[in-house]
Amino acid sequence: MIDEAGKRTLLKAIRDRIRGCRKCSIREDYDKPVPFAGSPNARVMFIGEAPGSEEVERGKPFAGKSGQLLRSAIEKAELDGDDLFITNTILCRPLDNKFPDDPEIIVNCQAWLRHQVRVIRPSVVVAVGGKAHKLVFDQREGITKACGNWSEMKWPWEEDLPSFWYMPVLHPSFCFRGADGRYDNPVMNMNSQERCALLEKHIASIPERFVVEEESEEKEEAPPPAATKFERKKLRF
Ligand code: SF4
Repeated sequence: MIDEAGKRTLLKAIRDRIRGCRKCSIREDYDKPVPFAGSPNARVMFIGEAPGSEEVERGKPFAGKSGQLLRSAIEKAELDGDDLFITNTILCRPLDNKFPDDPEIIVNCQAWLRHQVRVIRPSVVVAVGGKAHKLVFDQREGITKACGNWSEMKWPWEEDLPSFWYMPVLHPSFCFRGADGRYDNPVMNMNSQERCALLEKHIASIPERFVVEEESEEKEEAPPPAATKFERKKLRF
């Protein structure tokens, strides 16, 4: 088990290497990858799609308008800042803001995600948007149907790591879009306000997973009282 100081050192080394990463062609057009942010002790890992221009400018994931909606949902859910870690499927901003369809880029950047996962070992993972849901977790069901559904999962490429609770949620940028009545799909038919409320509702279900986790630990070995304490700290990144 790595202690907090060890995790900080490892995360700093990973972050420095990401900043200098030039594995993919998109680096020729856009500099400055946007590394992860969050606590080394996080139990919850959010995995988004790719940084936008504001994220690149500020050097932080989920720093733009979409990020504000996610952060506000996290605040409303009263999640502890020490419990959170945010990263992206792809760490460089794609050309024209379009998510790249080159599988090599996904594979290249997934190597960085694996490093992060090995250090953080989250017990709850939230895929933010359909790209993370599909590309990181190889899920076929569309995000508008799968959003909000919890399942127990193993990392597809790190089988020796413990299983975790997994939930995909709508990407905030999709929540800002208006209803599209062309589909027989209740989420597609929702207006922007309804989709934002749905995202908040799904994020608000995260603390319930800690209860499930603590209950299952209790069956094997009674946890010390401190393990169930919930002293909330603000989101710090
Ligand atoms: S997308 Fe990822 S792997 Fe590719 S250059 Fe950027 S940081 Fe490196």
